Amino acid sequence: MDRFAQFLRRQLDIDLELLRQARQDAETGTHRACLITPIRGFRECELKTRLLTAHHHCGTGNGPCDALGESYPPEDERGCPTRALLGLPYADRPGYAPRWRP
Ligand SMILES: [Zn+2]
Repeated sequence: MDRFAQFLRRQLDIDLELLRQARQDAETGTHRACLITPIRGFRECELKTRLLTAHHHCGTGNGPCDALGESYPPEDERGCPTRALLGLPYADRPGYAPRWRP
């Protein structure tokens, strides 16, 4: 595995541990500062916005995943696996259709 992928996986492991601690704190009524800050939230939103923009045309025949043969058929609203994955964090929000699950 390349160093960049190793770095990213390590950061995800750290985030998951911080989130587990925050969930445990919420469940037990403990008040500790969550180390995942609002700035991180803004960065995550920027990431999702950039990915959605890059994959905006997938499934129409004009997106990068169409060129790779990885897009979904035109009748599938998700467009491509990347777009489907972008929706996953919002699966519990009103308006999310179960058929959109990746
Ligand atoms: Zn795509």
